[in-house]
Amino acid sequence: MNTQSPITSIKGIGDKTAKIYEKLGVYRLGDILRFFPRDYCLYPEAVDIDDVDREGVFAVKVKVNTRVVLKKVRTGVIAAADFAGGLECVWFNGNYIPNVLHLGYQYVLYGKVTFAGLKRKMSQPVIYTPDKYSRIEGLPRPVYHLTKGITNNTLTKNMEEALACVDQTFEYMPQEILSEYGLYDIKSALSGIHFPKDFEDLRIARDRIVFDEFFLFNLSIRLSGLAEEKKHNIYAMPEKSFAEELKGKLPFRLTGAQDRALDDILEDLNGEYISNRLIQGDVGSGKTIVALLAMLYVTESGYQAALMAPTEVLAEQHAESIRSFLEKLEIEREVILLTGSTKGKKALYEKIKEEPGLLIVGTHALITEAVEYNHLALVITDEQHRFGVKQREALAAKGETPHNIVMSATPIPRSLAVVLYAGMDISVINELPADRLPIKNCVVDDGYRPAAYRFLKNEVDNGHQAYVICPLVEASEDSDGKNVADEAAELTKNLPGVRIEYLHGQMKPADKNDIMTRFAAGEIDILVSTTVIEVGINVPNATVMMIENAEKFGLATLHQLRGRVGRGNAQSYCIFFNLSGKPGTNERLEVLRQSNDGFKIAEEDLKQRGPGDFFGIRQSGEFGFKMADVYQDSSMLLKADQAVGRLLATDPGLNAHPKLRNYIQESYDPGEIII
Ligand code: ADP
Ligand code: MG
Repeated sequence: MNTQSPITSIKGIGDKTAKIYEKLGVYRLGDILRFFPRDYCLYPEAVDIDDVDREGVFAVKVKVNTRVVLKKVRTGVIAAADFAGGLECVWFNGNYIPNVLHLGYQYVLYGKVTFAGLKRKMSQPVIYTPDKYSRIEGLPRPVYHLTKGITNNTLTKNMEEALACVDQTFEYMPQEILSEYGLYDIKSALSGIHFPKDFEDLRIARDRIVFDEFFLFNLSIRLSGLAEEKKHNIYAMPEKSFAEELKGKLPFRLTGAQDRALDDILEDLNGEYISNRLIQGDVGSGKTIVALLAMLYVTESGYQAALMAPTEVLAEQHAESIRSFLEKLEIEREVILLTGSTKGKKALYEKIKEEPGLLIVGTHALITEAVEYNHLALVITDEQHRFGVKQREALAAKGETPHNIVMSATPIPRSLAVVLYAGMDISVINELPADRLPIKNCVVDDGYRPAAYRFLKNEVDNGHQAYVICPLVEASEDSDGKNVADEAAELTKNLPGVRIEYLHGQMKPADKNDIMTRFAAGEIDILVSTTVIEVGINVPNATVMMIENAEKFGLATLHQLRGRVGRGNAQSYCIFFNLSGKPGTNERLEVLRQSNDGFKIAEEDLKQRGPGDFFGIRQSGEFGFKMADVYQDSSMLLKADQAVGRLLATDPGLNAHPKLRNYIQESYDPGEIII
């Protein structure tokens, strides 16, 4: 067995179960082993059924004093058993239960107890011998993400079997590295994550997994050539004065930081080697115009330039704003928009293949096979954190060593950025346009609602627009929180005469575009939306961002959402509704209230999470590492970088480390990482 073995080779997983696992993205042994718990709970102390005084999860001590009854039903066999003290249990597909529960013996049943009159019931409890249970009592129990057809118990059982398949042959990390950094071997690490012996075990196990995530990512980037020695610049560019000329015709002056970033890019474009540059700038710092100027500079020489954005709405908006800038600059150059829902693609493909000097804007559609470019000399990826490394590479591969620029609003300190974006140069736009007034923030509870509505009305009456964000698309039984449909209805009721529409990610792209376009054109006053509008949208006339259930969002998301306002010269406002009724979350929101600076917020976020945050196991989300958190685990990131550096210095082709080389080539996919 190895990481590539299909999961059906694990004991207890048949074709049917394998199909269910596919929905979780689990196909191979290596996948399930790295299907990490989303949380842990503790195995509770085992109690007598008489001590169960409320519904909930318990470990109940029982003695079997009647026979187990098997009942055939349409879907299979149900096993039922009664225990002393009025406990009834059932197990679906329970054929095996009579072989497990023996008359007169004691067991511990673990699961949810519900009340039905005087009776207590458990459905599908896990059965332990008292001895086995005493060994896990008080320990963390993994809680996995689930999908229909699989329970946490089944997954846990499958995981035990999966771990049993792991032996020393699974280790790919050189022993000297494990020793040097004091890391667990892979088997101990995986068992420690899924079935920790105690919290210390979990912590050390996590360290190894975090180290691996950074190490493998860094190594694969360095090996893949993304960061290999620089490629020669084969493109001839216009005089630099052309860029000056363009700048002079802009309706505003570039900020000093924009100017420096543009200079960096122009240096690259005229340099000996191609550009491979990250432009990092907080929301609203004006990255788009820098990108556009670079594109115009390149297309002036007759080359093509492409800008890739993560959503259709954003791509469309970029195309629009580029067209309007071109008008102001008195430049006649065609802007091609290419997204999934673009009509008449064939003709566009033809055009892109034939015509030099085009400005091409689009979504992932830009990297589909059908698109062939004509002297593509510059590729730019906007909101790069929404793309996988592979997609970025794919765009660059569309040209012959084109200049490569990625733009990001994710604030990370430079020391970490140079490691994460190994081999890339970095320009930071750390300045907002001078005409911006700082956004005014407030954190409020539901009692403020009438005042908030009056405030919205007032802003609309003054010709401005507003966003209202809700966490949910529609009312749901599983999670509470405001949803866009009900919120829009509520606002409509309370604000007569105001034009209100809503938007969410499950709508058809054409409908989304339509609403966004109308909002941008000022035909809609209030846009109620889920976080789909978080990415990059620019409507400078919008002055209010009102966020319902702000306590449910991460600080980074909230900061991005807030960045949708304060993009013009009017005073803007952000209203965070804390609807939790709990004071604790206010502290987080307080950070946002006090600062509009993305870097500072990221730093505070880190401090607040502290090391104690649920055993430190959480998904970082932002970068797509499964377990590693770039901020929280920054010291591990630097260690991994050091380890990779030393390894490649002595063994650049990994010839002395064939196992690691194979693992990187066969089992590792950097495409999942989305920096
Ligand atoms: P982001 O960095 O978040 O992508 P954008 O590029 O969308 O920001 O710019 C936000 C808004 O600021 C746009 O309306 C843009 O035209 C405007 N803008 C950009 N640079 C300047 C500047 N130097 N002075 C005034 N407004 C600017
Ligand atoms: Mg942007």
